[in-house]
Amino acid sequence: MSRTPFRQTSLAYIGLGSNLEQPRQQVASALDELDALPLSRVSSASRLYSSRPVGPQDQPDFVNAVAALETQLSPLALLDQLQALEQRHRRRRERHWGPRTLDLDVLLFNTTPVDHPRLQVPHPYMHERAFVLRPLLEIAPHLSLQGLPLEQWLAKLSDKVAPLA
Ligand code: ADP
Ligand code: MG
Repeated sequence: MSRTPFRQTSLAYIGLGSNLEQPRQQVASALDELDALPLSRVSSASRLYSSRPVGPQDQPDFVNAVAALETQLSPLALLDQLQALEQRHRRRRERHWGPRTLDLDVLLFNTTPVDHPRLQVPHPYMHERAFVLRPLLEIAPHLSLQGLPLEQWLAKLSDKVAPLA
């Protein structure tokens, strides 16, 4: 008798960013595309936020958001799917921290750390980036990182992010 294998549902938080080619639409359509990934659904998503670029300043502001994704994919299978989505948005990797049509980062995957050459979770820079913490706080106000509430991480940062009108 064949059985469908049981797969555990995980909760992943995905950071989205874009600063090229109609960034609001890039992020809005990426949220729909995340919801359409195999074995996955978006259970909540933040508003869209605006932030100044990290690194080179001669580039447009970013539009950012964070989504909660319920998924039965493994962390690496999820990364494959996110990278395929980035490619579909014609992302060109030209300059480190340079402009991009779509950046999708795995911020958290359950409470499980991942340390793999292709994937580090929690995302190593998330606690330094208000454009990640502010939208994450909106959809997961009770989360802590390394025992410290998100709100307190955010209070340490000087860069400002604002929800888009
Ligand atoms: P960044 O997001 O830091 O601007 P990229 O999006 O170009 O940089 O990602 C570069 C590499 O980071 C990817 O090839 C991917 O394998 C790796 N990576 C490591 N950890 C993560 C993560 N948590 N989420 C997404 N990519 C990650
Ligand atoms: Mg990335």
